[in-house]
Amino acid sequence: MSYLELAVQVAREFAETYGRPPRWVVAAPGRVNVIGEHTDYNDGFVLPMAIERYAVMAADKSADGGDVIQIRDASGAEPVLIDLSAPVKPGAPKWGNYPRGVIAGCLARGINPGGLDVLLHSTVPLGGGLSSSASLEVCTATLLEAVTGKKLDPVEKALLCQKAEHEFAGVPCGIMDQFISIMGRENHLLLLDCRSRKTELVPVNDPSVQLLIANTNVKHELANGEYASRRAQCEAAAKILGVPSLRDATADAPENAKGKMDDVVFRRARHVIGEIERTLHAAEGIRASNWPTVGQLMYASHYSLRDDYEVSCTELDALVEIAESIGIKGGVYGCRMTGGGFGGCTVALVKRDAVAEIKKRMAADYKKKTGIDATIFVSRPAGGATVVKGGGAGLITQASSNAAGRLNPGVVGRNDLAFSGNFLKRDGFGVVAPGGDHDAENALVDQISTGAAKPGGEETVCR
Ligand code: ADP
Ligand code: MG
Repeated sequence: MSYLELAVQVAREFAETYGRPPRWVVAAPGRVNVIGEHTDYNDGFVLPMAIERYAVMAADKSADGGDVIQIRDASGAEPVLIDLSAPVKPGAPKWGNYPRGVIAGCLARGINPGGLDVLLHSTVPLGGGLSSSASLEVCTATLLEAVTGKKLDPVEKALLCQKAEHEFAGVPCGIMDQFISIMGRENHLLLLDCRSRKTELVPVNDPSVQLLIANTNVKHELANGEYASRRAQCEAAAKILGVPSLRDATADAPENAKGKMDDVVFRRARHVIGEIERTLHAAEGIRASNWPTVGQLMYASHYSLRDDYEVSCTELDALVEIAESIGIKGGVYGCRMTGGGFGGCTVALVKRDAVAEIKKRMAADYKKKTGIDATIFVSRPAGGATVVKGGGAGLITQASSNAAGRLNPGVVGRNDLAFSGNFLKRDGFGVVAPGGDHDAENALVDQISTGAAKPGGEETVCR
């Protein structure tokens, strides 16, 4: 589902929950890291892309005019109440600490939205390594920008969200997830230098390939402790090698210093130094559409994470083995675990025309090997966080300029395939207004979300 389709659905859910249409709708994507794992806290490179899974918030000023931000979750999680008249602190329910931390950071910068009624609906799987947490943070920050009309600098916004995760959720994450959720661009990966925080968009121009994400649907508990110990081992390795961080070590440095470090530290260093190099090579390969090379780098990354860094697990290994057995002939160029490890997802580079067959085979073989059902889906590289409605944006900013001249203003057009790329579609409808008049478009969508107008038929005039 595109973020526009999802936005319309969430606007409707907001109306069902609160009895009026939302004034703002914002969306922030999850992400998958294509390569560059456990390099972020070593000042290295990562190469993620935003995925077509989003945290979406629909909101309006609070009905009672009070100073409380109320966030209801479409999946039924306990609602979060944040009272802005008192200092914002971590509290219960725990999931509210992600938005709480962001709101605290915004308030500290004079970004105060006042009381709000909010409905959250996320299609990013929670805890699956696709960064539902960062998408929730970035979504919250984007909502506050839309409501107040105050725009944060993208880097400052990412750091604010990261700080929320550190200080309110207690998770010592790197900067990748927040950066990509903010700076993702359709059909691009983001090469991020975690030291300088410089970013470079890497275009994926070849429509014959896709990224296939498979969720093992397991999460092994040791992840937190193991993460802390990996960080400590990397710091120890850098110290022995006499460099500020492993980013500064040469490829042969661990081998030359082998006598000075124990085997575990040696292997951790070998992974990180190799992975930074692989990430840069993969970015080159993607620019050149050299898919076999990119695929080999992905497999090499997986073996290194499995053997040297020891953060894989039998379920992740099973998916990668299945991908390998399908091979290039069957349409798989490469596959690796993605995210911190010990469960979560794999990402595979595959031929588009083989996707259906690959999904079928992966699901069946994974079930046979582990007894578990995997969740498997493809995603194009998606755009970063966006205000879909309100704050100066029309609900269908792109569609209006393209479509206004082609469709009658005020018409809900059904299945207008000519614009399907950036045309608002849900149940096959879209909304256009003359000259990209966003207020008129939003009024139409409000009517649809409250049931005052219904899409249907080949063309339905919406009055
Ligand atoms: P990941 O970011 O890979 O999904 P994390 O463990 O970092 O995994 O974050 C998952 C946590 O984020 C959840 O346990 C929950 O607390 C919070 N979270 C994210 N999105 C939502 C949501 N839509 N509703 C409730 N909680 C959410
Ligand atoms: Mg997370």
